[in-house]
Formats: sequence, structure tokens, C-alpha cells
Amino acid sequence: MESSRKRKEDDPIALLRRKKRKRRMIRELTGRIILLVNVILFIVLLVMVVKNSSNSRKMKEQNSLPDSWSNEKSSKENSEDDEEESLISDSKIDKFAQMYSGKKDSFLNYTVCIDAGHGGSDCGAKTNTGIEEKEQTLILAKKVRQYLESLGINVVMTRTKDVELSLEERRDIANNANADVLVSIHRNMYNGLEKIAGIEAWINNSEPYEARKIAEDILDNITGCADDINNRGVKSGSMDDPYENFGMNKVEMTSMIIEVGFMSSSYDNHWFRRHNDDIAEAIAKGIADNVMLFYYN
Ligand SMILES: [Zn+2]
Repeated sequence: MESSRKRKEDDPIALLRRKKRKRRMIRELTGRIILLVNVILFIVLLVMVVKNSSNSRKMKEQNSLPDSWSNEKSSKENSEDDEEESLISDSKIDKFAQMYSGKKDSFLNYTVCIDAGHGGSDCGAKTNTGIEEKEQTLILAKKVRQYLESLGINVVMTRTKDVELSLEERRDIANNANADVLVSIHRNMYNGLEKIAGIEAWINNSEPYEARKIAEDILDNITGCADDINNRGVKSGSMDDPYENFGMNKVEMTSMIIEVGFMSSSYDNHWFRRHNDDIAEAIAKGIADNVMLFYYN
């Protein structure tokens, strides 16, 4: 037994076979390791390419913003107290105020509440590159305030910072200020359909004449200064129920929600940025022209 095993071990052919088998196993193992390394490298490369392309898309989107927009963002982020910040140039404000010269004293009696939609953890809608509705509504609301204040109108903001407020808290701010008009600024969203685009306004389903007139004028003013946008008109109630009102229209005063383009439409997003200051002016003009008409006595 002992001697036969020894003989087998010493057998040069068996030895050669064993060596061959060992070499084959090493070759196979090396091959597998190389394959595994290649697969890992490929995955890493793929992740890097995907990351890069999404970054460059973001950069492209950022770069396409007018300078004023990125400055506004950075000034907003850097400022501790933004009450005094100016987002519209003095020359634009002066030009706007001149349209109402001689009437300014009459504006002193009016209070307008401007509501920047969403805020805090409620980001609202989002563009496909991650820009949030709450940022855009706040900047636009502040610009509208600047225009209105240049006329001497008393402007109350529901928020001037990135804070979360319930609809009730927003309504309370407008009510407590005895506002004549409440204008809530939003951007729209229609998931998955790029071609749904344009501006629209929502008012109480009782169709108050004043609210319809101001909202119509605001939409007309916006298309007047930035005419490459679809005007979807003034609607009442809400999308799901014409008899159920949106929260911000559940107030005694004249109120409206202005939806300034769809965040799901890249066309609207570019339009919104390109004409941002003019849109603010158009909203302010719609309010100023009518506030005197309806509330002066
Ligand atoms: Zn919104």
C-alpha cells in the first residue's frame, strides 16, 4: 500500500499532470480576477460619466441664468437680514414710480399682502435640475414688494425668509394687517407633461369682480411685457372642485393666486428667469392700477 502510493507520487506523468492542472487553475483564477477588476473599473467609470453629465446639465442650467438671478441667489444666501436688500435697479424702480407720479398720495391708504408660496421644509414644486419653487416665489415676491413700496403702498409679506408657514398663518398675517388685497405667488407643476405651459390665476369661486379684474390685469400685463408665454386665464375654485377654494382664497379680502409658469416646463423655466424683473413689475402694476380703483374712498 505504502510503496504503491509512493510509486504513484513519483510517477513523472502523474507529476506532470498535477503541475498542468495547477497551472490551469492559476490561469483560470487570474482570468477571473482580471475580469472582476475590469467589471469594477467599468462600473466606476459608468458612475463617473453619469455624475459628470448630470453636473454639466446643472452647470448649463445655472449658466443660462441671467446674472441678476445668480446674484440674487447668492445675496439671499449671504444676507443675515434681507429686509433692506434691493433686487431691482434704482433706474427701473424710478421709471415705474414715474408712471404714477401725482397719484402717490392716494396709495398711502392701501395695504397689500404679498405671499411667497411655500418655504422651509415645504419646497413646493421643483425643476428637473432641482431648483425649488419656494426660492423663486420669495425672490419674485420681494421684487413685487419693492415696486409697490416705491409708490408708497404699505406692503406686508407673509415671509421674507426661508421659513415654513401654514395656510392659516399666512391668512392671519393678511387679516391682521387689514390688507386690501392678498396676492399669493406660486409656480405651477404638471408631472410628466412638458408641453403643459403658461401662466394662470385662481380666485374664489364666488367670482368677486375685483379679484377677477386684478388677476386678469396681472396676467395681461405679464403677457404684455413678456409676450412669449401662454396665458391660461383666470380660474375660480380649484382644479379638483370648482366649488372648493384654494386655502389662500378663503379670506374676506380680495385675493388671488398667481401661478407664474410651470416648473415642469423647461420653456417656462427659461422664460421665468429671462423676464423675472418684468414679471414682478407686471404684477405690481396690476395691483397698483386697481387698488386705487376699488379701494379709494
Ligand atoms: Zn406652489
